Amino acid sequence: MKYRTILLFGSPGSGKGTQGKILGSIPDFFHFACGDAFRNLRIDDPIGRIFIEYSSRGQLVPDEPTINLWAKNIQASTLDGEFHPDRDTLVLDGIPRNPRQAEMLKDTLDVKAVFNLTCSDQSKMIERLQRRALRENRLDDANLEVIKKRLETYERETRPVLDYYGPKLVHNIDSTESPVQVLRQLLDILVRI
Ligand code: ADP
Repeated sequence: MKYRTILLFGSPGSGKGTQGKILGSIPDFFHFACGDAFRNLRIDDPIGRIFIEYSSRGQLVPDEPTINLWAKNIQASTLDGEFHPDRDTLVLDGIPRNPRQAEMLKDTLDVKAVFNLTCSDQSKMIERLQRRALRENRLDDANLEVIKKRLETYERETRPVLDYYGPKLVHNIDSTESPVQVLRQLLDILVRI
C-alpha cells in the first residue's frame, strides 16, 4: 500500500514548516518535517552527528541515512497510533529533497499534489530565517553564509524535484502573503483533490 501524500515544497524560509504544522493539526492529516526528525535525534546518535556535519555547512544529509530516518519515523508513528496510513493524508515537508530521494520513495508514496511555496523576495526569506534562529535554536539559520549556501543547495539539488513530479501535480503558491492567506490557497486546492 502506498501512502496518500502531499508534498510541501519551497526554499528555506518559504514557510513550509508553518503551513505543515497547521495542516498536521487537521483530522486525518499527518505532518512529517524531515528537518525536525533530524533535530530530534540525540547528539550522540550516529545520524545526528552526520546531520550536524552537513547542515552546519548548508548541505543536504546523504540520501541513505535520510530515507532510513524517514522510514523509521513513519513506522514508529504508525505503531504509536499517531499516523493512520489507511485514512490519513501524509503531509511531507523537506523530503524528498532531491530527485534521487524522490526515486527512492516512489514505491511508497502516492503523491496527490506538490505545493510549491514561492517567495520572490529573497531578503524577506532571509529575514524570516534569521528571526527564527534564536527562537528555535537553529544554528544553521544564524549565519548568513550558511543561509546563502542553503539557498544555493536548494536551487541546485532540490528545485529539480519539481520537474520530477511534473506540472500536473505542482501547484505554485505565493508565500509572500500572510500565513492565513497562504493557508487559504492551500485549502482551496486540498478540498478538490
Ligand atoms: P529548511 O527548509 O529551512 O532548510 P529544514 O528544517 O527542512 O530547514 O532542514 C534543515 C537541514 O536538515 C537541511 O539544511 C539539511 O541539511 C537537512 N535535511 C532536512 N531534510 C533533508 C533531506 N530530505 N535530505 C537531506 N538533508 C535534509
